[in-house]
Amino acid sequence: MRFEELPTPCFVVDEALIEKNLIILNGIMQRTGAKIVLAQKAFSMTAMYPLIGKYLSGTTASGLYEARLGHEEMGKENHVFAPAYREDEIDEIISICDHIIFNSFSQLEKYKTKALAAGRKIGIRINPECSTQEGHEIYDPCAPGSRFGVRQVEFQPELLEGVSGLHFHTLCQQNSDDLETTLNAVEEKFGPWLPQMEWINFGGGHHITRDDYDIPRLEACIRRMQTKYGLEVYLEPGEAIALNAGYMVTSVLDFHKNGIEIAIVDTSATCHMPDVLEMPYRPPLFGSGEAGEKPYTYRLGGPTCLTGDVIGDYSFDQPLKSGDRLVFGDMAIYSMVKTNTFNGMPLPAIAVQEKDGNCRVVQEFGYQDFKMRLA
Ligand SMILES: *Cc1c(COP(=O)(O)O)cnc(C)c1O
Repeated sequence: MRFEELPTPCFVVDEALIEKNLIILNGIMQRTGAKIVLAQKAFSMTAMYPLIGKYLSGTTASGLYEARLGHEEMGKENHVFAPAYREDEIDEIISICDHIIFNSFSQLEKYKTKALAAGRKIGIRINPECSTQEGHEIYDPCAPGSRFGVRQVEFQPELLEGVSGLHFHTLCQQNSDDLETTLNAVEEKFGPWLPQMEWINFGGGHHITRDDYDIPRLEACIRRMQTKYGLEVYLEPGEAIALNAGYMVTSVLDFHKNGIEIAIVDTSATCHMPDVLEMPYRPPLFGSGEAGEKPYTYRLGGPTCLTGDVIGDYSFDQPLKSGDRLVFGDMAIYSMVKTNTFNGMPLPAIAVQEKDGNCRVVQEFGYQDFKMRLA
């Protein structure tokens, strides 16, 4: 079907734009020999896994279910990190994951014999205590009191037997200058143990497919770890795979006035794009301007009972009418994976825009998807 015929609300992922990102990532793999895996937390649209698997080395997971998804749907190298593993899940995790990363030496001690006996590579997550981001403390694993990674003072080199790699993840939507700063901290604090490792994992948060990303500097960081310590280098970005590669199509339902013109749309910020409220950020909207920039300004609000269910204030050249369709940009990452049915909201359909422009709905949801999640 045509884009204009898609049901709303609907996530639409553009195959050509995903592939454009994958080609950039694959270029880094080709030139440096580093391996890049998809962090499924950001983007788990399995209909795209065959395409992603053509360019990347595999998947990484935050726990058993994502690990299963990567194993079943991509079937390539499968990595996992969790703050703590459950005893009733570890056997299945070990049976499907190639790299198992532990958040503490106690977790390592608890599960290492089993994992090594199964031929798995095991790693420990380190915390280089090097904050390179400001303002987003909930996204900073190096923030004071963070539960992520072993700090230098807690590091127990005597327990490293069998550990083949170190993992750090400290970035969020950042460029390679911050990676370089972080690597300096990693070397300063954990350098003595790098030569005995086989691999290092740079985590995610690398905004590699953003226009201003400095790829040569990233490649220099990779080569530095390869040549200085003989390490195999892994990166596990999530956002970078589907950055700017998807849309959310919504329809205008009605209008309201309260000091400002308000349009009610069939997409909810809190149910369908919760990061708009949590991060928070203002999603780009095609054909619109900032509030007051174009002649007709509206506050776009969702159909739930939550007062704060507001997507943002946008302006338009023409007044909006009921039934108008609006298209938000950059809606592939951290959107589909975070939807919920609060207030009995329907979940958005999920569609693919193929390379020839044709659109195909790959998943639709209904009342049962709401009902089955409740008692
Ligand atoms: C979130 C996360 C990623 C992916 O981060 P992006 O910001 O989506 O690139 C990778 N590794 C770990 C351990 C994470 O927690």
